[in-house]
Amino acid sequence: MKNTAEVVIIGGGIQGLSLAYHLAQRGLTDICLVEMNTLGSGSSGRSAAIIGHAFPGENCLPLLELSFAALLRFQDELEADPGYEPIGCLLLAGTQGAPGLRRRHEVLQSKGIDSQLVDRTTISHLTPGLNLEGIEVGLYGPRDGSVDPHSIMMAYANHARRLGVELAENVKATGLQIEGDRVIGVHTTAGFIATPRVVNAAGFRAREVGAWAGMDLPITNLKRHIFVTGPIPTYSRPIPFTYEVEAAWYMRREGPGLLIGMGAVESDEEDPQVDWSFLDEVVEHSLHRAPALAEAEIKTGWAGLRPVTPDDDPILGEAPHLRGFFNDCGWGGHGIMHAPAAGLVLAELIVDGEATSMDISPFRAERFEGE
Ligand SMILES: Cc1cc2nc3c(=O)[nH]c(=O)nc-3n(C[C@H](O)[C@H](O)[C@H](O)COP(=O)(O)OP(=O)(O)OC[C@H]3O[C@@H](n4cnc5c(N)ncnc54)[C@H](O)[C@@H]3O)c2cc1C
Repeated sequence: MKNTAEVVIIGGGIQGLSLAYHLAQRGLTDICLVEMNTLGSGSSGRSAAIIGHAFPGENCLPLLELSFAALLRFQDELEADPGYEPIGCLLLAGTQGAPGLRRRHEVLQSKGIDSQLVDRTTISHLTPGLNLEGIEVGLYGPRDGSVDPHSIMMAYANHARRLGVELAENVKATGLQIEGDRVIGVHTTAGFIATPRVVNAAGFRAREVGAWAGMDLPITNLKRHIFVTGPIPTYSRPIPFTYEVEAAWYMRREGPGLLIGMGAVESDEEDPQVDWSFLDEVVEHSLHRAPALAEAEIKTGWAGLRPVTPDDDPILGEAPHLRGFFNDCGWGGHGIMHAPAAGLVLAELIVDGEATSMDISPFRAERFEGE
């Protein structure tokens, strides 16, 4: 492994890999990315793989639009299929969630993003077989869809390597070397790397890496489960990603069956395991909302962590007090959909000194100071 580099990226998830690719594209190729496990083995390999405009906060919408554009030109630029399927996203809300959904619709419309408020009849047409008891309104995004995070990550990794980036798997960063107000290196399980720039793309371990830089990053890891069923006749044709706001429960087609997601329990597991006792709760809610699920059996399941900040926006940019230390973390439940744009804007900041594609100041870590 290199012992000097222009940039060291800690974390080989979709964020670290997107950044490595975009830096190399801009000519900064003397990079070492260290991943303590294997590439994509963290949250990025465990997601529901949705790109949906109704999910992230308003500050993130320009980032999402940049990502969306990048996905549409992904095949031409990276010669790989990102697996984008415009299945649409349908959010459902009852009395409690409906005002938020309506506000969301207004925001999306004001930005020219296709979004439709739909009634129960249209909801039943889009996703058949639902029990709509307690559901007041739906929000439908026809452009939204699913992607293939694995293909996206491998495309970034392959091109980064081709351009000269070192991707070091099974190497754990263990600390920073700091001199005065700047970072000068990273300690790892494979030795010391002297570097003027370090990026914290450590996902569910970003809080720990931030602490090495003297930062208290307010990131909480929330564990979410996903279960996959066998075939269900009611859902043999495509349906949108269907998400119930109040229950944070969702389903979409996955192969011949359905993928069902739920859960938000605080956890710091390094390799989150399925808690099979949680399945009862998931099944109970699933059968209530989509009774046709009684026709299916659970085939498999997995769990992952969503590293969430208090305002649900990421932390992106250089640390205020430590030159050369950058954060690219706190992506919560939207790190897949934002990765193409986040890598681009952070690469602009690092190489050109400014993120020219959009204003990333709303994502500064300093916004949490005093909280
Ligand atoms: C069940 C579930 C469903 C989700 N669904 C969606 C979705 O539909 N759409 C969406 O956009 N997002 C979704 N997300 C969120 C998304 O998966 C994350 O926001 C995203 O993967 C974060 O990417 P990352 O690169 O920051 O983190 P990670 O993929 O976790 O990568 C961080 C990497 O850093 C490594 N690392 C940590 N510490 C060190 C160290 N000290 N040294 C070396 N390496 C280190 C880890 O091993 C890990 O591989 C979901 C998440 C979960 C859990």
